[in-house]
Amino acid sequence: MKAVEKYFEKYKIRYFLEFPEDKICPICNTNEKDYCVLIGIDGTGDGSIEEGQPVHLHCLINRNLRYNREVGVIYYKQTIKRT
Ligand SMILES: [Zn+2]
Repeated sequence: MKAVEKYFEKYKIRYFLEFPEDKICPICNTNEKDYCVLIGIDGTGDGSIEEGQPVHLHCLINRNLRYNREVGVIYYKQTIKRT
């Protein structure tokens, strides 16, 4: 994973090697130990600092990310399994 760490350092992306034990990734709903990054949470900033939600790097890349051109937002589309 040295390539990933080099990539983060090149783009000055703050990352963590392990997921915080007291948090849950909003995409996979686990706190599996793996690389994660912090995503700013809407409505928590005071202009200089804001709350961050840890999200697994692999979840950001592998899951059902979508881009909505109309709104200009990248989001995760939760798949609903109907029985
Ligand atoms: Zn995850």
